[in-house]
Amino acid sequence: MPKTEDEWKKKLTPEQFHVLREKGTEPAFTGKYCKNKGKGTYVCAGCGAELFSSDTKFESGTGWPSFYAPMAKDSIEEKKDFSHGMMRAEVLCKKCKGHLGHVFNDGPKPTGLRYCMNSAALGFRKPK
Ligand code: FE
Repeated sequence: MPKTEDEWKKKLTPEQFHVLREKGTEPAFTGKYCKNKGKGTYVCAGCGAELFSSDTKFESGTGWPSFYAPMAKDSIEEKKDFSHGMMRAEVLCKKCKGHLGHVFNDGPKPTGLRYCMNSAALGFRKPK
């Protein structure tokens, strides 16, 4: 796994680098997984860690791929984020500490959570 930001820059596309390493947000409705309804596993675009199952993906109408639960609680990390005048919980990949998006309390059942992710921070693996 890359150790320095320079190494990350070489490994990732500019868009992936901006989101994962600079905590950027892709414009709504532009990401490649926003409308993806296929069955499979969403992985970290940085390190390949398995993060979300298509089984927990739902149409949030926000323009970002949204999930109501991570595949495993310990695959992600949550951090309070006070930027942009809001109190939000930032979601990071636990393994590579890449920024994935935010989690909100207005999601559907059964968790009531909405993991609002950036497509650029994700990869998609179809079931074998
Ligand atoms: Fe990662």
